[in-house]
Amino acid sequence: MNFIPVNTPALDGNEKKYLNECVETGWISSEGPFIKKFEDALATAVNRKYGIAVANGTAAIDIAIEALGISKGDEVIMPTFTIISCITQIVRAGAKAVFVDSAPLTWNMDVAQIEAKITSRTKAIMVVHIYGLPADMAPIILLANKYNLTVIEDAAEMHGQTYNGAPCGSFGDISTFSFYPNKHITTGEGGMILTNNEVLAEKCKSLRNLCFMPHKRFVHEHLGWNYRMTNLQAALGVAQLENLEKHIIRKREIGNLYQSLLHQNKHLQLPVAYTDYATNIYWVFGLVLRDSISYNAEEAMRKLAAKNIGTRPFFYPMHKQPVFNNSGLYLNEHYPVAENLAERGFYLPSGIGLTDDEIHYIAEQVNQIFN
Ligand SMILES: *Cc1c(COP(=O)(O)O)cnc(C)c1O
Repeated sequence: MNFIPVNTPALDGNEKKYLNECVETGWISSEGPFIKKFEDALATAVNRKYGIAVANGTAAIDIAIEALGISKGDEVIMPTFTIISCITQIVRAGAKAVFVDSAPLTWNMDVAQIEAKITSRTKAIMVVHIYGLPADMAPIILLANKYNLTVIEDAAEMHGQTYNGAPCGSFGDISTFSFYPNKHITTGEGGMILTNNEVLAEKCKSLRNLCFMPHKRFVHEHLGWNYRMTNLQAALGVAQLENLEKHIIRKREIGNLYQSLLHQNKHLQLPVAYTDYATNIYWVFGLVLRDSISYNAEEAMRKLAAKNIGTRPFFYPMHKQPVFNNSGLYLNEHYPVAENLAERGFYLPSGIGLTDDEIHYIAEQVNQIFN
């Protein structure tokens, strides 16, 4: 078996056709027509009024935090088990990230721990849906209403997923997506902000475009970024979105096949297949080594690499990041579930391009190594 990469995207729809259209018409910048098409199509798919396409998922979160006016002294409650993209603008703005540990089975933020973290300075709760299974939104929305908090929803791993039948990305006052190649739909690099709030949408548009003033170009009252998406990327996005449903069906097939081939292995914790509010779409197929395995994820990943199987470690918790600890932040904080996930969790090849033969080979090797 040749090396199986952890991700292979599928670009088998109208991608070429739409890209050709860009080249033939000369529309390649962010002024091109695919931008609005892509924004409208995703906003419609997620039941939101406004979509603002940006350069990547991190940029989408940066802009969301800035647009909400989160600043010095404010607190944002968020999971520690996530990617650094979620926290960069919070820290740069001088606000404080207040962490919540993960639930041991779903790996999502443990919603039962949120209320105790709310203070008079809390401005927002950031929800990050993890690895294909949504966080439990209902109790989060209740808390947000009770304490008058904004909800930021990072749905980067959730294209096509629903929570109690409503699309993920439709719960936040402001929601964000990423279109990195390992997401269910990709534009190479790309991201989007979604909201129903017109004022927020206008702020986000301005922030993505350097806060140029509409009638006085090159005069600025605020600082923004150049986080614009190109027409080429949006062309890919429109084509990918046409195939999203197909991609989700395939992702579930991949996940279900892994489940059936690995569920008897007593040494591995597998992803939760479904809860009462959602069925997993397996953005990635994660594994957590149980205590019966004496070594950690790093060693497990080395063993799989020797069998030509690509893997990735789980997220490394925010409260343990050297960039924060070295400046004195979060030094004495402990979140045991997230720490265990980081030490003992990793994921198998999970891309849409993966074949059933490859999955059978991977599962066979996994069962041989961990037995
Ligand atoms: C991928 C991802 C991001 C970052 O998106 P980029 O497009 O890579 O910047 C943010 N949050 C989550 C949960 C992600 O999975």
